[in-house]
Amino acid sequence: MSMSDSAARDQAIQHLRRLEAEGVWGVRRSEPAKQEVKLATNDSDLQTFSSPTAGGQSPSGESLTLETLAAAARDCQLCRLCEERTNVVWGVGNPDARLMFIGEGPGRDEDIQGEPFVGAAGRLLNKIIEAMGLRREDVYIANTVKCRPPHNRNPAEDELAACRPYLMQQVDLVSPEMIVVLGRVAMQAILATDAPLGRMRGRVHEWNGIPVICTYHPAYLLRTPEDKGKTWADMQAVMQQLGIGQQ
Ligand code: SF4
Repeated sequence: MSMSDSAARDQAIQHLRRLEAEGVWGVRRSEPAKQEVKLATNDSDLQTFSSPTAGGQSPSGESLTLETLAAAARDCQLCRLCEERTNVVWGVGNPDARLMFIGEGPGRDEDIQGEPFVGAAGRLLNKIIEAMGLRREDVYIANTVKCRPPHNRNPAEDELAACRPYLMQQVDLVSPEMIVVLGRVAMQAILATDAPLGRMRGRVHEWNGIPVICTYHPAYLLRTPEDKGKTWADMQAVMQQLGIGQQ
C-alpha cells in the first residue's frame, strides 16, 4: 500500500466514523455478513461493511448502496467546495459496471443538474463511450471531487483528500474491472504522481488492484481535437482489455 493510499485509508476510516456518529449509516464491527465490501486496504483494523448484494443493513435498517452513500454525501461540508455548490454531483451509471470513468470535478452544467459529464464535455464522453460499443448507462461515471470548484479552478490538494474516501467507496461498491481516468488532475490525484498525462497515458497502471488507463479529459479534447486520436487509441486498449467492440 502506498503512502497516499494509506493516508486515504485513514481519512476514509475517520470520515466513516464521523458519518456513523452522525447516524448516517451503521458500521459493522462484528457479525460480518456473508459478503463484505472493504475499503481498499489490507489493514485488518479496518471496519467492514455489508454489501448491497449481501442485503446488509445499518442499525437504522438502511442498506449500504451507492444511493445510500450519495445521500450521505448530499449535505457534506468536509471541504470548502461545499460553500458555492448547487448540488453534490455524486456519480451516475450502472452500479455493476465493468468500466468506470473518473474525471476531475463538476463544471457549471454538472453543478446545476447534479450529474457528472452532462455539458459539452459530457456529450463528447458519451460519443466516446458509444464508439466503444457501449452506452452511457453501461458504465459508471464519477469525479475525484463531488462539488464544483469555483470558476472551474482545479481542486486543491486538501479538497481532493477530503473527497477521496467517497471515491474509494464508489470504486469499492462498483468494483469495476477497469478504470479510465480522464485528465491530468484526476490522474495525478489517483495515481499519486506529478508526471504529465502525456507520459502516463498509453500503458496500463494499477490502483488498488484495478487496471487503470489515463487519457485526455473530454474538455481538453474539445479544445485540442488533434489529440482525439490518442484518446481513441487509449480506448482501444480498454476495449482489448475488456474484450469488447471491434479492434
Ligand atoms: S467536494 Fe467532496 S468532501 Fe468537499 S464538500 Fe463536496 S462532497 Fe464533501
